[in-house]
Amino acid sequence: MTNPFQLLGISDDVVNAVKDLGFETPTPIQEQSIPVLLEGTNDFVGLAQTGTGKTAAFGLPLLELIDFKVTKPQALILCPTRELCLQIANDLKNFSKNVANAHVVAVYGGANIMQQLREIRQGVQIVVATPGRMLDIIGRKAIDFSNVKYVVLDEADEMLNMGFQDDINDILSTTPDDKKTWLFSATMPAEVRRIAKNYMDNPVELTMGTKNTGNVNIEHEYYIVRARDKYAALKRIVDFNPEIFAVVFCKTKLDTQDVAEHLIKDGYNADALHGDLSQQQRDKVMQRFRERNMQLLIATDVAARGIDVNNVTHVINYSLPDEIESYTHRSGRTGRAGKTGISICIINSKELGKIRQLERIIGKQFTKAELPTGFDVCEKQLFSLVHKVHNVEVNNEQIDQYIPRIMDEFADLSKEDVIKRFASLEFNRFLDYYSKAPDLNAAVGDERGERGERGERRGRGSEGYTRLFINLGSVDEFTRGDMLSFICNNGKIAGKSVGKIDLKGVFSFFEVEDDVADKVFEGFKSVEFNGRSVRIEKSGDGGRGEGAGERRGGGERRSGGFGGERRSGGGGGGYRGGGERRSGSGSGRREGGNREGGGFRDFSGRSRDDKGGSSDRPRREGGNREGGDRKKKW
Ligand code: AMP
Repeated sequence: MTNPFQLLGISDDVVNAVKDLGFETPTPIQEQSIPVLLEGTNDFVGLAQTGTGKTAAFGLPLLELIDFKVTKPQALILCPTRELCLQIANDLKNFSKNVANAHVVAVYGGANIMQQLREIRQGVQIVVATPGRMLDIIGRKAIDFSNVKYVVLDEADEMLNMGFQDDINDILSTTPDDKKTWLFSATMPAEVRRIAKNYMDNPVELTMGTKNTGNVNIEHEYYIVRARDKYAALKRIVDFNPEIFAVVFCKTKLDTQDVAEHLIKDGYNADALHGDLSQQQRDKVMQRFRERNMQLLIATDVAARGIDVNNVTHVINYSLPDEIESYTHRSGRTGRAGKTGISICIINSKELGKIRQLERIIGKQFTKAELPTGFDVCEKQLFSLVHKVHNVEVNNEQIDQYIPRIMDEFADLSKEDVIKRFASLEFNRFLDYYSKAPDLNAAVGDERGERGERGERRGRGSEGYTRLFINLGSVDEFTRGDMLSFICNNGKIAGKSVGKIDLKGVFSFFEVEDDVADKVFEGFKSVEFNGRSVRIEKSGDGGRGEGAGERRGGGERRSGGFGGERRSGGGGGGYRGGGERRSGSGSGRREGGNREGGGFRDFSGRSRDDKGGSSDRPRREGGNREGGDRKKKW
């Protein structure tokens, strides 16, 4: 039988390689784009979400069009982040593994440039690059683009959001005028339109789904809770979805760290990803998540750019993004590769208007979901456990030797009693915790006590002390004593002026007497530690999203936490639901349905110098919030 990729015009060598990757049939975007791109004579604009198979949609035609006998750059692929760059280069290497003399190089910041230059010198046909590092290499006159026939601008909207417009202009000016340009973008704001107009000649346009709509495989839900109940609501959603594998988005670095710390303390398998981590730390976190050794990745928008992990079941918006368009990018982290996914917003009733705005932008209706009751959670967890017990793989060889002793132990119990006891082992913990769990659903307009409580629960210092945040912690191998000397030396204050030191993972809190606080700020103005600038901030202010402090006193904190087994700490332990993931299951009780709509919104006023994330550009320092004021606010 002829392979469907062959029918689209892909050669045997490449078809065999994609077969090895498990690609049996082309995805819709591949089906539509491959025949058009294979002609090699058109400019092209493809409006497609991440996760739809777009790398192969442009990658497979490129492999057919390039002359691999000539070892000169013939295709240049520009993308916004290091992660995406590596992913694309890796995919292309896999697709071309049977093609003789095919050479692909990944060029991105934050890695050794000499190695990249060496690879370029050895001869490549396809260059996959982030704009900053590419420009650097062009500036060194280390690459010759005079033979480039195809330029791909991948995630064009993200590249523009990150302020790469001028870099792209400069890079493209070094490529021949008669090259073909293929642009892929998840959304089509005016700036991307403008690029298409300026760089392209009558491009063929393909839209997968409706313009600017999110992925059709994603359901959108919102839960209305009081701000102080946000954290409890997050936990309840997670507990109600025992097989959850999710990215939780927060507005600020501090929030990501704070939510992650609390989840870890409460026994969940979580970690934070934000721009204050070194590249190495970020890689480590991502690797754990990718390998499913972590169940909940708590991330900022900037840090989560280019996250390309399949089978993410849920995206949880712990805080709504500042820029409306970021929602499409956030939700696109789930529902990849034809899978279904759920994007959840935990909001307070005042944010309902934002949900309506989002509905207009993505052209889909959100479902108002109700947070499950404690009883619902217990029931769900019980049957998840029963299901697991039923399906567990039994190692007869190992267990058989213990069976006589086990049978002895249970001799006085009936089969039903034994089952009850096994089930209770885990179930009791949930029952204990949830037996008095309050209803967390807030009615619209229900803002009871929010204002008053919020102030009190922010992370204030002890009487007479100012509580400060510092972006160093135990992972930097600080002990409390080290931290005390570090504070005294840099802040130029005596040890007696320092109050409590709360050493955390990648950050810490410490208190200083109110009247030396300014001096400490002054002293820390330009301090570096291991090549990283040290940042201190007043705890509890400066853009911390709501809910970060509120929950400290929240009604639903569990002291012991459930499921010690759920915790994997430093990356070793397995994700407890591994392999058994259910995708597309509902998260709570739902009402309402879907409606198609339309319309899209332009970006406006972005600044060029704010390019955080894992791109090869410096991240903006100073503010606690990652990203910037580039896009339309609510
Ligand atoms: P992309 O949008 O290129 O990042 O692709 C998303 C995911 O879908 C990746 O894990 C690809 O390996 C996978 N994928 C792409 N095309 C196919 C296909 N035709 N069949 C199965 N999986 C695919």
